[in-house]
Amino acid sequence: MIRVERMRFLESRIDVIRRRDKDSEMRKVEAEVFDESTLMVVYKLMSDGLIRTIEFPVSTGKEAIVFAGTTDDPDVLSQTDDAGIIAIKIYRIVNAEFRNIFRYIDGDPRFRKVRTDHRSLIFAWAQKEYKNLMRLRNAGVCAPIPFRVLKNVLVMEFIEYEGRTAPLLKDVRIRHPDRLFLEISSMMKEMYRGAELIHADLSEYNIMMRGDEPVFIDMAQAVLLDHPQAMEFLKRDVWNICRFFRKKGVRADPSELMVHISGTDMSCIEK
Ligand code: ADP
Ligand code: MN
Repeated sequence: MIRVERMRFLESRIDVIRRRDKDSEMRKVEAEVFDESTLMVVYKLMSDGLIRTIEFPVSTGKEAIVFAGTTDDPDVLSQTDDAGIIAIKIYRIVNAEFRNIFRYIDGDPRFRKVRTDHRSLIFAWAQKEYKNLMRLRNAGVCAPIPFRVLKNVLVMEFIEYEGRTAPLLKDVRIRHPDRLFLEISSMMKEMYRGAELIHADLSEYNIMMRGDEPVFIDMAQAVLLDHPQAMEFLKRDVWNICRFFRKKGVRADPSELMVHISGTDMSCIEK
């Protein structure tokens, strides 16, 4: 098939399964994110029975768009307790602003052989988020369950609370800030010691709140402990979390948290 025809074919196939009453936001996002190769990936995931529908965009960021969708894959259904809702994170290929990616991929032995063209980098980036989510899962740190990654599309557990997208930490009223700080501190420690990962973009913007339960998200930039800048990234995470909780009246001390997580005393942390 020639290009235009193939494109129309894919679009029509996806349209059949997608919601018909699209609002203008959905239409705008679709035009932006579903280039030909992304459509093909989505089509593949639909034919494989993993994605049944794509419902609505939950978030439209510079690097990725996150959709709520549905699945009837029995394997996935057995791992989620909601009505087959999934999160579909699609990394932008067109218009992606990925100037910083290389810093996080370079230095990660898991991605030594990655080619350095634009597309391959984005695919590696999505892979990296999937693998990092897997590591967190194995270490028992609360984060979305990853189901599958294909090229620039990552399918994972949808984090919801009381029938809605769970809010971010920055947007919730915190009832027990001291307790929550301790809980997030121990998640950071588990992430470091169990998963041997540093989030590298941790803040109130990348923690969702499933009720009282914090869930770490946005894991593509997370690095292994032996990354050359691992300690620098960890310090930044520690600072962000302490700054947030200090504003909530918690006596959150970055040096103490650093020791708690890594066991190393970082006196240089007071900059
Ligand atoms: P980025 O910040 O790079 O755009 P994130 O992974 O932080 O990407 O996702 C953006 C937003 O999408 C989050 O703030 C959150 O509201 C929503 N989101 C991300 N992952 C999930 C998920 N698994 N379930 C539900 N909502 C999600
Ligand atoms: Mn984010």
